[in-house]
Amino acid sequence: MSEVAAKGKTTVKYDSEFTKKVYDMENGKWVRMCMQCGICPTTCALKDKMDISPRRIIQLIRAGAKDEVLKSNTMWLCTSCYTCACRCPRGSDDGCNA
Ligand code: SF4
Ligand code: SF4
Repeated sequence: MSEVAAKGKTTVKYDSEFTKKVYDMENGKWVRMCMQCGICPTTCALKDKMDISPRRIIQLIRAGAKDEVLKSNTMWLCTSCYTCACRCPRGSDDGCNA
């Protein structure tokens, strides 16, 4: 659990192992490469349906906010259309056919 109630306040716990696991995945290098420019959420047609933007999901993965990431609907709504990847200035365009 990444959040615990402490004296009426919510504290977020971070899991660096979660971050490392994502980095070690096949396309984990793109999470490391992200410079948080914000282009991906502006190009995603589904961003208004997502509770957390693609850019922020990357930020949360890097922070190790495992529960926030896994509770989000963002990954489930993503259609892997690669529109964001084609426009990413960090060149995460492996699947870009445009
Ligand atoms: S477009 Fe690329 S560099 Fe910019 S926030 Fe999205 S993933 Fe990160
Ligand atoms: S692959 Fe498509 S649906 Fe998924 S985050 Fe990028 S633009 Fe949105």
